[in-house]
Amino acid sequence: MMKTHTCGELREQDAGITVSLAGWVNRRRDQGGLIFIDLRDRWGITQIVADLEGTPEAHAVADSVRNEYVIKVTGKVRIRPEGTANPDLPTGEIDIVADSIEILNEAKTPPFYINKDEGTVDEAIRMRHRYLDLRREQMQYNMILRHKTVKFIRDFLDKESFVEIETPILFKTTPEGARDFLVPSRLQPGKFYALPQSPQQLKQLLMVGGFERYFQIARCFRDEDLRGDRQPEFTQLDLEMSFVEREDVMQLMENLATELVKTITPEKRMISEPFQHILYKDAMELYGTDRPDIRFDLRAIDISEIAGRSAFPVFVDNVKVGRPVKCMRVPGVAGELSGTQMRKVGKELESMARKAGAKGLAYITIPTDPEGELKGPIGKFFNVDLKIELLEKMGAEGGDLLLFMSDEPEVVYAVTDGLRNHFKKDMDLDPNLLAFCWVIDFPEFIWDEENQRWDPSQHMFTMPLPEDVELLDTDPGKARGSQYDLVCNGYEVGGGSIRIHDRAIQEKIFPLIGQTMEHAMEEFGHMLEAFEYGAPPHGGMAWGIDRLCMLLASTPNIREVIAFPKTQGGMDIMAHAPSTAEDEQLSELYIQLDLPEEEEEQTEI
Ligand code: ASP
Repeated sequence: MMKTHTCGELREQDAGITVSLAGWVNRRRDQGGLIFIDLRDRWGITQIVADLEGTPEAHAVADSVRNEYVIKVTGKVRIRPEGTANPDLPTGEIDIVADSIEILNEAKTPPFYINKDEGTVDEAIRMRHRYLDLRREQMQYNMILRHKTVKFIRDFLDKESFVEIETPILFKTTPEGARDFLVPSRLQPGKFYALPQSPQQLKQLLMVGGFERYFQIARCFRDEDLRGDRQPEFTQLDLEMSFVEREDVMQLMENLATELVKTITPEKRMISEPFQHILYKDAMELYGTDRPDIRFDLRAIDISEIAGRSAFPVFVDNVKVGRPVKCMRVPGVAGELSGTQMRKVGKELESMARKAGAKGLAYITIPTDPEGELKGPIGKFFNVDLKIELLEKMGAEGGDLLLFMSDEPEVVYAVTDGLRNHFKKDMDLDPNLLAFCWVIDFPEFIWDEENQRWDPSQHMFTMPLPEDVELLDTDPGKARGSQYDLVCNGYEVGGGSIRIHDRAIQEKIFPLIGQTMEHAMEEFGHMLEAFEYGAPPHGGMAWGIDRLCMLLASTPNIREVIAFPKTQGGMDIMAHAPSTAEDEQLSELYIQLDLPEEEEEQTEI
C-alpha cells in the first residue's frame, strides 16, 4: 500500500508516528523556508509541512508541485505549534513534517476549482471533465450517500427475506409509457432486443417462479425527453412480493423509507409518520397534480356553490354547465402591496394561468384593516353576505390574496399546479424537510383522445381494485387501479400496484388499450401462458433510486447523484456518446442509415 493512513484520520494522539499519505494537492502555500500543502483524499485533508532547513529535498519537491498533483508524502505526525491549529478541519490539530515527497503524477491546471465550492461553474464544463467534477467535496458526498442508500436498502430487504435476482438487459418490450431503446441483433438478422423500461414482466415471472420476495437494484431505460428528474437510463429499486395486498407492500416500503432516512440522513425530518394517504381524486382537486408537494398548504377549494350565487357572469355560466369554480388562498402576500403593485402581480399570475390554458385568473385581496374594502377586479360581484360566506369558507384573513379559477377540470388542475409551484419558489422551505405521502386509487385508465383508446394509468399489468374489476366490462373509465405512488416533496419517488395474475382479466386489458389479441400474444404471450401455471397473487413496487438520492442530498437535479449522467440531448459530452458506427459494424447488423439532411450536434445540458 502506498499509504499507511488516510488524509482524514490522524489526530493529536498520533503525534510522533511516521506515516505515509497519498492524495491530491488541494492547496499549496509558500512561506519561504516553509511550504504548506493541504493534501486531500476521499477521507479528508491533512496539512503537510516541508521545511527547507530540515529536509531540503522534500522542500524542493514541494516547491514544484501545483494544485491537483498526485503526491505521496512520508513524514512524522506533529502537534501543530501553538496558535496554528485549524478548528475547521478534523485533522486540524496536527500536521505532517515531510521527510520525503514523491510526485506520482502531475496535473494540468483544472478548468474549474476543485478545492472551492463554485456553484457557478458552467455545467457543460463540469460534464466534459466529469472525472474532475467528481473530485469535488459535494460530488464525493453525493456518491457516497448513494452508496450508503443502496447498501441500506439491500441489507434491509435481505433481513426481510428478499432475494436479489438479476434480470436481462437485452430483452423485449416492457412498456412503462415511454419509447423503447432498441438493440439490433447480429445473430438474428432484422430482429431487435428492447432494453427494459423496467423489469416488470420479469419480476412477475419470478413470482410465478416461486421466489415470493424478489428485489433488484435495476438499471432501466426509457427513450423520452430528459428533465431535471429524468435520465434515459436510471436505477430503480425494483421489488415484488407474492401473497400480499396493497397495504402489505405499502407498509413494508414505508418502513424501509422511514428507517432509511433516519439512518442515512438523520438531519432530515419527515413531515408525517405514518405517511399521509391521499386519494388520487383529492390530490388532483386540491393540488392539481398526482404528485403533490405537501410541504406547504396551498390548496384549491371548490367554491362553485358560492360563486354560482355571485353576480359574476363567467362564474355563474360556468357553474350552470358544471365547470367548477375554485379558490386558492395565498396567506399574507397581498398585505404589503399597493394597489398598483397588486395589479402588476395579478397580471403576472394571470399570464401564468393563461400559459396553463386558462382564459383568465381573477383575484380579490383582503385588507389588513378589518374595516377596509375587498379589492380586486371581481370583488364587486360578491355582495356582503356572499363575501362573508366566501371568506369563512376560505378561512381568509387580512392581507391574504384569493385567486379564482374556473374552467374545465383539467385546466383548473394545471393552473392550480402552476400557481403552487410559483408561490413555492418564494417560500422559505426547510431544506431538511421530507414530505412523503402516498397517492392511491388512481384510475386504471386515462382516455387518450388522439388515439381514441384507454391508456394504462400505470401499466397494463395493474389489477383494478377488487370492487372495480367488473367495470372493465361495463365502464372501464370508472375503474380504479390498485396502484400506489410514493411521493416526496412533489416528486414521484416510486410507484407500484397489485398485479393481474389471472389470464382472463389480463386478456380484457389488451383490447381496451388498443392492442389486438394477435399483437398482445406476440409481445406478452409468455405472460399469459405463465398465468396459466399457478401464478400466485402478487404485487410490488419500484423506487427511482436517483430521485430518492437527489432528495436525500437536497439537490434539485438527478445529475448531481449520478456519476456519469447524460445531458438534455441524451449525450455523454465527456466520452462523446452516442457516436457514429463504422460501416462494417452497421453491415454486420444489416443496417442502412437514412438520416435527415442536416444533423446538428446538440451540446445543451
Ligand atoms: N414497473 C413499475 C415502474 O417502473 C413499478 C411497479 O409497478 O413495480 O414504474
